[in-house]
Amino acid sequence: MTHVAPYHCDASDDPHAHNHVYHDHDECQDGKRIKPEHRKAGTGGKPRCKVCMNLESSM
Ligand SMILES: [Zn+2]
Repeated sequence: MTHVAPYHCDASDDPHAHNHVYHDHDECQDGKRIKPEHRKAGTGGKPRCKVCMNLESSM
């Protein structure tokens, strides 16, 4: 598990839930689904991804 700087998806027309949150773990399954061209640095003003939260609390 790798903690990384926050990143998010900027594809606002994509209905997938992983685009409405920001991620901060490299191992996040949802974060991995973000296409490279849509992966942006920062939180994007979005709430934190639940998967990323679980990754951190499982340590
Ligand atoms: Zn995540």
